Amino acid sequence: MAIEIERCKNPKAKPDAATLGFGRYFTDHMLVMEHDEDGWHDAKIVPYGPFAMEPSSMVIHYGQSVFEGMKAYRTPEGKINLFRPEENFKRINLSCERLCIPKVDEKYLLETLIELVSLEKDWVPDAPDTSLYIRPFIFANDPFIGVKASTRYIYCVILSPVGAYYAEGLKPVKIYVEDEYVRAVKGGMGFTKTAGNYAASLLAGEIAHQKGYSQVLWLDGITHKNVEEVGSMNIFFKFKDELVTPALNGSILGGITRKSIVELARHMGLTVNERTLPIEEVFERHAKGELEEVFGSGTAAVVSPVSELKMNDRAITINNGEMGELTGKLYDTLTGIQWGKIEDPFGWTMEVK
Ligand SMILES: *Cc1c(COP(=O)(O)O)cnc(C)c1O
Repeated sequence: MAIEIERCKNPKAKPDAATLGFGRYFTDHMLVMEHDEDGWHDAKIVPYGPFAMEPSSMVIHYGQSVFEGMKAYRTPEGKINLFRPEENFKRINLSCERLCIPKVDEKYLLETLIELVSLEKDWVPDAPDTSLYIRPFIFANDPFIGVKASTRYIYCVILSPVGAYYAEGLKPVKIYVEDEYVRAVKGGMGFTKTAGNYAASLLAGEIAHQKGYSQVLWLDGITHKNVEEVGSMNIFFKFKDELVTPALNGSILGGITRKSIVELARHMGLTVNERTLPIEEVFERHAKGELEEVFGSGTAAVVSPVSELKMNDRAITINNGEMGELTGKLYDTLTGIQWGKIEDPFGWTMEVK
């Protein structure tokens, strides 16, 4: 399959690996496809650049937009791997369905993504812990004021070479347990990657930052008692006898890293329970000495150890503030598979030629 490619005339200089940071540089090309009365059509690769949009474009007013996040990794042999990309396109359709956005052909999106990444091969960095972040997104684009589902949409994929998500590296993070503001409720859009969920999370994030915490742990939106997830990560608790992550209940985003960790930990012989987890249970089992490790999971940071949980006037330190053994093992195994440093017994990686 060949799609139309309009090549950029002035390729940019590649940024130095040490200064990459996260989400600040974009490659020379992007993929664009439009939807109108004729459905989705005419996927094209074009030079990276601004969109011309009307001020009445519906996305600006009513927030009908969804996105995905995945990475391309450079292996020691110089090959390029994607990690479970079909899961991302399955999930974008789940998000589309909830937001009344016309569904996309998952296979076609994967084929066209492979073309784009292949064209931008040289942008996949090779320094340790670097990768090419991939951001597919869809937004409503009818020039219309009034609440309804749009008929015009734009699908676009942009690529950004990135370093480690946290500038400090794999240092454990301190997390603030939020029991007033909520991110999502069952029946809402919590299980989708849609722009509004992140707007809803900003205020609590700012308050947590002011208090010296880097992330917010959300509780459920109805009882404010059960653990849900962290900003853009799912969360895991390693107790003495089980690894627990909150069950996907409609308000939690079903992370692909989460799913991979559940599968990997079971493969390692651990008991993994996806269930309701009251925050009180976390504090109680910590007091009994049964809480060994806490970590977040997501594409951006992969696995992120948690050193402290703070809720109102209570604060607990986990594993003496250090990264736990299981957290380290999961990080090494998952990143080892992603960067092609160890064998992938699960068939999760897909090479881009
Ligand atoms: C993207 C995201 C995650 C992590 O999902 P991955 O597929 O593992 O990257 C978790 N929570 C939220 C709210 C997210 O947006």
